[in-house]
Parts: sequence; C-alpha cells; structure tokens
Amino acid sequence: MKIAFIGLGNMGAPMAANLVKAGHEVSVFDLVDAAMKSLEKAGAHACASAQSAASGADVIISMLPAGQHVRRLYLGRDTAPGLFEALEGKPLIIDASTISPEDARFVGAAAAERGLTYLDAPVSGGVGGAQAGTLTFIVGGTEDGFEQAKPILEGMGKNIFHAGEVGSGQVAKICNNMLLGILMSGTAEALALGVKNGLDPAVLSEIMKQSSGGNWALNLYNPWPGVMQGSAASRDYQGGFLTDLMAKDLGLAWELALESKATVPMGSQARNLFALHASQGNGGKDFSSIQKLFRAGEEE
Ligand code: NAD
Repeated sequence: MKIAFIGLGNMGAPMAANLVKAGHEVSVFDLVDAAMKSLEKAGAHACASAQSAASGADVIISMLPAGQHVRRLYLGRDTAPGLFEALEGKPLIIDASTISPEDARFVGAAAAERGLTYLDAPVSGGVGGAQAGTLTFIVGGTEDGFEQAKPILEGMGKNIFHAGEVGSGQVAKICNNMLLGILMSGTAEALALGVKNGLDPAVLSEIMKQSSGGNWALNLYNPWPGVMQGSAASRDYQGGFLTDLMAKDLGLAWELALESKATVPMGSQARNLFALHASQGNGGKDFSSIQKLFRAGEEE
C-alpha cells in the first residue's frame, strides 16, 4: 500500500516506522524537520508538504495534536486549500488523533461530500504501545471502511475495535481518557499520602498493585520517580503523553458531558487538576508529572 502519514510526534513517528516495517511504501510530512529526518532513516520518504505526501496515496493517516489541526489539514484555512481540495484519487482517510466527536463528524461529512471514506481511529496504549506496535485502535465509520482499514491498522496495533459510525471512536476514546486522568491523579494522590506518612513509594506501589487499588496508571505507568524502570517519571517526565494533551482530552470529556447533559464530577476534578498543573509550566511534560502537584512544598 502507498500510505501518506502526516504528524510525526511522540506517537506518529513510531507508528509510521511500524508501517514501513510492515512493508508499506510510506510518505511522511511533519512541520518539524527533525521528525522527518528520523523517519527517513527508518525507510520512509520525507515530503515537503502534506499535499506532496498524499499525492498518489491509497491511504492517508493523520496523527495531529487537536481538532483544529485536523480541520486545517483536510479542509484548509482562509485562502490555503486543505488536502481534500488537492486530492486526485479517492484514498481512504484515517485520522488517529484524539479530537472531539463533533470535529470528527464535521471532517467526516466534508469527506463524504467528496466521495471519500473517513474514519476516526483514535488510539490507546501510549508511546510504548506505538513503538511496540501493540496499540488499541477505536474506530468510528462505515463497516466497509473499517474492513479496508483493519489490515493497515494491524501493522501498528493489536486490538482493533469498531465502535460505530463516524465520531464513535472519539466518544469511546474520550471516556477512556477521562477515566485514565482520574486514575492517574488518584494514584499520584495516594502515593503522596503514603510517602508523607513514612512509606517507601516502591513498597507502597507494590502493596497497592496486589490490592484493590491496582490500576493501569499504578501498574504500568507509575508516576513516582524511580519506582518503575523506563517510566516517564524515571526520566524526569520527558516524552510520553503530554500534560497539555491530557488537559485537552479532559476538556473534550467536559464538552461532551455538557452537550449530552451527563454529569462528570470526577472527570471535572481531574480536568481542573491537569489544567492547573499545565498552567504551572508542566504542559510539555508527561502527564504522570501530575505527581509533582501533590509534592508541592517538599524539598526535592
Ligand atoms: P505530539 O505533539 O508529540 O505530535 C504532534 C505532531 O504533529 C508534531 O510533531 C507536530 O509538529 C505535528 N503537526 C502539527 N500540525 C501539523 C500539520 N499541520 N502538518 C504536519 N504535522 C503537524 O503529539 P502525540 O503525543 O504524538 O499525540 C498525537 C495525538 O495522539 C493527539 O491527539 C493525542 O491526544 C493522541 N494520543 C497521544 C498519546 C500519547 O501517549 N502521546 C496516546 C494516545 C493518543
């Protein structure tokens, strides 16, 4: 398959590299040159624009930060045309970014007007999952589109779910990330309480992992530095899933709750905590750095 991959950040870069490994011909574009250089080394073809990467592609995959980037890429802005305008053929469009269901439906409807199949396919599994090719894809779109996408997504992921029509992938992903935000802040809070009362964070973590407080954040993404080898916390919260992106996802959950008149008290609390943490200069750090919020005043 000829695949155009747009957006080579923490997630997109390893995902695109796995598509090369799976034997696809991959053309890439990112606004950051260094990101393209590393993909070129991995065997992809670096392009000067999204339009040139998409030229002649069977499939276009985007992995961008937020909804406005996805809208801009496909629909353009002001006088700058978007990708939909520039396409010659009818490639399958897969957006793997986490954006609002409303944005996904808007771009999906614009794609349908041009006879294109659009799928929202947000992922779960983090940078580790992207590198290992074990991501979970949560797909919204037609059954036919899903069947076309599945073998391609299998080059980057292990579990591929069809959640429903366009936008459904985003709804499921937003619910998941709201829960993750709650679990990560709760885990950080519990660890800080234990340490303040004389416990070793590694010992406390092990106890809670084997007890009823065990959860994904604690078991696989421990937020306390030094407890888990290879975790973002153990490399000064560099890389991984940025606080800014978690704050964005919790904002998406909040908007979704408002629209659907659902109540999300725990999600709202988590949103406020991550927004506060981001406002204190931690937006570019991994989201597990929320631990620092609970250690304020401590001598490091
Ligand atoms: P990132 O900020 O590391 O990467 C985004 C990349 O997009 C950057 O390299 C940026 O230069 C590029 N970009 C922005 N606008 C562009 C444009 N118009 N054309 C080309 N490139 C453009 O973000 P990430 O961590 O890779 O996350 C991407 C998406 O995946 C987000 O929606 C995020 O919420 C979601 N996500 C992230 C994780 C994670 O653990 N990092 C996990 C699941 C889902």
